[in-house]
Amino acid sequence: MPPEPFPDAGDIGTRDEIKWAGVMAAIPGQYNHGMNASVLIVEDEAELAQVLRDYLERAGYRVQSVPDGVSAISQFRHKPPDLILLDLNLPGMDGLDVAREVRRRSDVPIIMVTARVEEADRLVGLEIGADDYIVKPFSPREVVARVRAVLRRAQAEPTEPQIVRAADVEVDLDRHRAFISDREVQLTPTEFSVLAALVGQPGRAFTRLQLLAAAQGEAYEGYERTVDAHIKNLRAKIEPDPKEPRYILTVFGVGYRFNDER
Ligand code: CA
Repeated sequence: MPPEPFPDAGDIGTRDEIKWAGVMAAIPGQYNHGMNASVLIVEDEAELAQVLRDYLERAGYRVQSVPDGVSAISQFRHKPPDLILLDLNLPGMDGLDVAREVRRRSDVPIIMVTARVEEADRLVGLEIGADDYIVKPFSPREVVARVRAVLRRAQAEPTEPQIVRAADVEVDLDRHRAFISDREVQLTPTEFSVLAALVGQPGRAFTRLQLLAAAQGEAYEGYERTVDAHIKNLRAKIEPDPKEPRYILTVFGVGYRFNDER
């Protein structure tokens, strides 16, 4: 596992939550789609789970494996994988429930594995946002190929929101451009990332360390005050009156928030 990029472990702590904030595009390297990507296998048949694990590990993936839905959710929260290989027919909480629960928080790629061949099941599986499905019996080789394909696709076509907006401020993460009332403002990469984080969650109070992490992908205590300089420059560029900010407000004792009360 690479080190968590947010050592302050505040409520913006996990990579998944950062992605949720819509700032993922501003932080390269959030998700690992390469050969060391991690796969969570959710499969109650121990032998099958072991075979899948062997094949995936041999293909270079890091593998976690759990036998039921409840463990899957807890494992997912504890250590979000890059892809979930999810058996539909599980004891207790079934695969669809697991997928729904995961989808409430994340768009991590999910491949459903099912022994039910009914078309309805397939449709439901895809409706809840599964990225692909595999019907049992399958060859482990086929599973590895699907995993690779889905991860590649996830990398090629990011589904995160590429534009975040609040009030009359628009931040286009894809094209790296920012607009105030349709007027484009020229920002440095750091200013851009700080603004993207703030606009991505209007009203939320960010600590300086969190904004630094959003801007640079990592943050070290002792450097928090550099954020003040970035905020000062940002205000000079976007605020009609930088002395009376209406977009980026100071939250005393905490940090900054984007004004969502207009
Ligand atoms: Ca099963």
